[in-house]
Amino acid sequence: MSGTLRERDRKVNWHPYTQMKGAEDIIPIVRGNGAYLYDDKGNRYIDAVSSWWVTLHGHAHPYIAERVSEQLLTLEQVIFAGFTHEPAIRLSENLLRLLPSNQKKVFYTDNGSTAIEVALKMCIQYHYNQGLKRTKILAFKNSYHGDTFGAMSVSGRGVWTAPFVDMLFEVIFIDVPTEANINTLFITIDQYADELACFVYEPLVQGAAGMLMHKPEDLSILMEYCRNKGILLIQDEIFVGFGRTGRLFAADYLSAYSDVMCFSKGLTGGTMPLGLTTCSDVIYEAFYSDDKKKALFHGHSFTASPLACTAALASMELLLQERTLENIQRIVLQHERFAAKLRLHHQVEDVRQQGTILALEWRTGEETSYFSDMHDKLYPYFLSKGILLRPLGNIIYLVPPYCITDDDLAYIYETILEALDSL
Ligand SMILES: *Cc1c(COP(=O)(O)O)cnc(C)c1O
Repeated sequence: MSGTLRERDRKVNWHPYTQMKGAEDIIPIVRGNGAYLYDDKGNRYIDAVSSWWVTLHGHAHPYIAERVSEQLLTLEQVIFAGFTHEPAIRLSENLLRLLPSNQKKVFYTDNGSTAIEVALKMCIQYHYNQGLKRTKILAFKNSYHGDTFGAMSVSGRGVWTAPFVDMLFEVIFIDVPTEANINTLFITIDQYADELACFVYEPLVQGAAGMLMHKPEDLSILMEYCRNKGILLIQDEIFVGFGRTGRLFAADYLSAYSDVMCFSKGLTGGTMPLGLTTCSDVIYEAFYSDDKKKALFHGHSFTASPLACTAALASMELLLQERTLENIQRIVLQHERFAAKLRLHHQVEDVRQQGTILALEWRTGEETSYFSDMHDKLYPYFLSKGILLRPLGNIIYLVPPYCITDDDLAYIYETILEALDSL
């Protein structure tokens, strides 16, 4: 085990979403504290992307650590078929209380992609169990729902999915709704209505596509339309849930109810992998039967990990504290002020904000693309200034942990303006 962490890492590890050839700048992080990450050379980075959108209350939070370590010494794991435990019961009770009142049951997994897989299986089998053949799925263009095959199938097609495209199942892709196009969307839906099992969507913000946003009123209209056609609704709150949008859930902006909801990422405050899928009684009852074959045959070894459920309980306690809710509103306000400034900048093509999520599109004279050279310029630039920002092509976005200070936000804003002026 000789060599630096960088050298040892390069010998044995294969990193996600990374062309390993030429990936020289992989940074060993040795500890985290609040909004900060520290590398092996003692450099400090402000984690302005919440480590891929998961961290809510800051790194190495002592309260979550304490609760998880107590749980570790009490019950670290138990099979969740035939057995249950208080952390999973309490977490389901506490979460369902915060969700739209039609959400009644919780199915646990261990990441976002598998929460989506379960949601898709629930909806497809819902029809199957009633002897109906509805197997097509409706989704938004540019959507992102994860990297397993089902989740990838319902995500927008692109370079990521190209090698697998023949193996992905049939999905009808539509534009996000606007007042202007909604009737066109209805026409497309009508064309496939009898075959569509469900509609899966990221509400309000399409994260991985570059923080693209649409209006809750328009989405609500589209949801109602689908519901009236017997198309089940899967709301992917994996990214936007737990306060990111300025309210606890994107659902809190919508006038229509979904049938199924998916959560992960911020669920444990970003401390442990956990995913879950909630559903209405209507879905649950389509599986509840004397016929054993009508059960939902899905499960993971670490389904409802007591440790991860405990982390989620602790994180949700912190989230609902007055201080955290105030912090969220404080970030929203600071972002709004900065967004107003950005809108006047000649180098900025577009500015989008939904709550604590802020994105700006850098004017490049070319079409917006994930593979824009801007990423390769901007990412190291911000790191050299002690800020972890991970532009999606020419789109710079902020998704900070709620504990970030006004001073750190001001420093990030200032650094972005400097980049706009100098690069
Ligand atoms: C990240 C993400 C997923 C996938 O979650 P993983 O835990 O990374 O598998 C699904 N949907 C959305 C909207 C996401 O942002």
